[in-house]
Amino acid sequence: MSMRAEYVTRPREEIANLLRRERRFVSAADIHAKLKRARARVALSTVYRTLEHLRAKGDITERIDSAGDASYMLCEPRHHHHAICSKCGKVEDVDCTAIELFAKSLRTLHGFTLDGHAMEFVGRCRSCG
Ligand SMILES: [Zn+2]
Ligand SMILES: [Zn+2]
Ligand SMILES: [Zn+2]
Repeated sequence: MSMRAEYVTRPREEIANLLRRERRFVSAADIHAKLKRARARVALSTVYRTLEHLRAKGDITERIDSAGDASYMLCEPRHHHHAICSKCGKVEDVDCTAIELFAKSLRTLHGFTLDGHAMEFVGRCRSCG
């Protein structure tokens, strides 16, 4: 392996591993700080570039909060939703079979045909009660 290849791939792996461990949304600045604490020398610009790469590949989900700040999480490609703990930030992936019923009543009650939906759930996880 050449020095150059190692230099290019290692930060990507460090970032991917970190995202694999985190079950919550983390910002680029959070990732940078965590890597720094773990003594990995990765520039903030590399974090941004890597996140963009992973997002383009469809490996991570980007979330924009009400303040307009972006954070990221490793996600499965299949359609699902996030139940986010407001205390610890832990995220559970949840499916949405119940939406089928809601879509049916939208159609019968309002004549509205649902083509898609996006939503997240906020509450408290098992450990936070
Ligand atoms: Zn997810
Ligand atoms: Zn929690
Ligand atoms: Zn859904």
